[in-house]
Amino acid sequence: MMSAGSGSPSRQRSTNNGPVSDAGFVLDVRSFGRRPGTMRELHRTATEHERLGLDLIAIPANAEVELDLQLQAVSEGVLVTGTASGPTAGECSRCLEPFTDHVDIHLTELFAYPDSTTEQTTTDDEAYRMVDDLIDLEPVILDAIGLELPLQPLCTPDCAGLCPECGVRMAIAGSDHGHEILDPRWAKLASFGSDAPGTGDPAEGSTNPNHPAASASDDAESRSENLEEK
Ligand SMILES: [Zn+2]
Ligand SMILES: [Zn+2]
Repeated sequence: MMSAGSGSPSRQRSTNNGPVSDAGFVLDVRSFGRRPGTMRELHRTATEHERLGLDLIAIPANAEVELDLQLQAVSEGVLVTGTASGPTAGECSRCLEPFTDHVDIHLTELFAYPDSTTEQTTTDDEAYRMVDDLIDLEPVILDAIGLELPLQPLCTPDCAGLCPECGVRMAIAGSDHGHEILDPRWAKLASFGSDAPGTGDPAEGSTNPNHPAASASDDAESRSENLEEK
């Protein structure tokens, strides 16, 4: 019985394109001879010619991906475990700056033999298939990398993002960057409370909370509210 699976993109990729000899993601397990228990370590540097990842972050095209895998023959197929790791290039979701990073993709996948029970009782979406004793890791990595990479990547974990007032990157502007006038009403307030515009020290009131200046600002606030009502 052949399953009438609709055919996942990964399946079509491996059948339509055949073995991708130059990508290095295709593993030849012919030598396993379907002997359960046969195990092999595999360390390989593969080059992927397409971008692998999400909108904001991905392993860029033509980057080198390190494969550090263990292949184990089981009764139903070949179990592939290990990691694929490579450089990533992304755009910070807070400050929009490009940045580079690194991702480790953890793999645990069974590739079913063509005539195995697993192959016959699952759809293409449920289990990967071996084709002509070849394992194509590319669809596996494509599926797994989406889970490893952050949907909202950050250039640094504590990225301060952009100034909400002027849009400048806070990393460039510095920690003292700010806008004293955040609200037009406070602009009016400042002109009321200052005898000499431009030379007033806004810190004076705050350093002396019991100073008459504090109550003066309260008066100014009520005046400001009166103005709004007109
Ligand atoms: Zn950032
Ligand atoms: Zn700003």
